[in-house]
Amino acid sequence: MKWITGVGIFITSLLLVSCSSSKKVSNPNTSNSTASFEIDKNLAIDRLSQGLQYQTVSLEDTSEINFEAYEDFIDFLGEKYPSIHDNMESERIGQYSLLYKWEGSNSGLKPAMMIGHYDVVPVKYGDDRLWQYSPFDGEVDEGFVWGRGALDDKGGVMSIMEALEYLLEQGFEPERTFYIALHHDEEVGGVRGAQQIAEHLQEQDIELAYLVDEGLPIAEEIIPNVEVPLAMIGVASKGSINIELRYTQDGGHSSMPTRSSVIGTLSRAVNRIEQKPMKAHYRGLIVETFEPLIPYMSFTQRMAFNNTWLFRGIIKSKLSNNPATNAALRTTAAKTIFEAGFKENVLPVDGRVIINFRVHPNDTIDDVVEYVRDRIRNDNINVRVLDRARNPSPVSSTRAAPYQMLKQTIEESFSQVLVSPSLFIAASDARHFHDLTSNIYRFRPIRARHEDRSRVHGIDERISVDNYIEMVEFQIRLIKNGTSEL
Ligand SMILES: [Zn+2]
Repeated sequence: MKWITGVGIFITSLLLVSCSSSKKVSNPNTSNSTASFEIDKNLAIDRLSQGLQYQTVSLEDTSEINFEAYEDFIDFLGEKYPSIHDNMESERIGQYSLLYKWEGSNSGLKPAMMIGHYDVVPVKYGDDRLWQYSPFDGEVDEGFVWGRGALDDKGGVMSIMEALEYLLEQGFEPERTFYIALHHDEEVGGVRGAQQIAEHLQEQDIELAYLVDEGLPIAEEIIPNVEVPLAMIGVASKGSINIELRYTQDGGHSSMPTRSSVIGTLSRAVNRIEQKPMKAHYRGLIVETFEPLIPYMSFTQRMAFNNTWLFRGIIKSKLSNNPATNAALRTTAAKTIFEAGFKENVLPVDGRVIINFRVHPNDTIDDVVEYVRDRIRNDNINVRVLDRARNPSPVSSTRAAPYQMLKQTIEESFSQVLVSPSLFIAASDARHFHDLTSNIYRFRPIRARHEDRSRVHGIDERISVDNYIEMVEFQIRLIKNGTSEL
């Protein structure tokens, strides 16, 4: 997943108004959680380091995947977390995804679920030389654990395993049945892992109370001089649709060109879409995201955000100027493929453009198609929706008890951290579970600063030792709180 893009949204969006008079708010507790559990920190770090050394790399072409590494990683989990292995039911689904079930004592409560993925994106050829520490060595140095997957999402998966092992060793017994799924193909769509696990649960008529997945982080320093961190809980994610525009006409020799051409016609259509993007919205979820930050903003920022009835237009136009904030406000259109022509002196008879739209929860696939037809105003251009179109997710309620439990657990774990609901502009495996619950939350307590943005799927991916321990403690608390009656 690409949670860091979410951070980008808020980092940049909050820079939009002058910050000269921002309140300097420091957070006395950025590095330590409140209460802590008696966990063996060295052992937990050592296990994370070892886990990162398995090259569980996802590739589109499955024949290229080294599944032995997946088998080895699964064996490693069994060996290093013996209490889970001995006490919880587990099954393998889609060959390499793991589903664990921890039976609760109160069958009257709906089960809960936590998911993550242990596959990672490849390190681009040649990039490994740019890493400070080799991407699959799991080096622990300078207060960090370095390696592909440290942030996305092997660190998440390992922190869940640490929490479960700890709770089992302590003799904890959940009231509510708890499912944990560790997926193996999230980075390539999750069709074999998450989708099959969701179907498997549906076949048993299981309804979940809620589901927690990877997602947005705790963003630090999101406005200059305001250091109060914001934990963003992803309550919705965008949809995605690829639209092909195709245009054909008689060809001919380039010495006698016709007045209109395939390339010209398609270019005009693309231009018309660029000139007027889909409508931006500054209402609903995005307003809630900013709300807790308002008291910490500068005078001018506060004025704007407190009086959206007057400043909505200005806020929208400022946010629209930046690609990251723009993505939080509206359905975006990325022109990704343009094909026409094959020879310098031959007029093309056929051309096509593909536009990838990321659909905001305020719109639907049908809205996008209608918008495209309306904008291009040319019935001779064929508009086609390509396979795998996906509407935006439903928006999970912030009033629901599981949201409140998650919020409270974050507040208990990280004092001085503000919490708000937010839009996840990427996608994760959670999208396969919408038929099992309406309460889906995308969050990992990873502390992310501006400079960490490029580490996810990039170079020098790492997590700080302190943050990883905080994450394990958070997962322990979340499982304890989340398996009791809400
Ligand atoms: Zn991910």
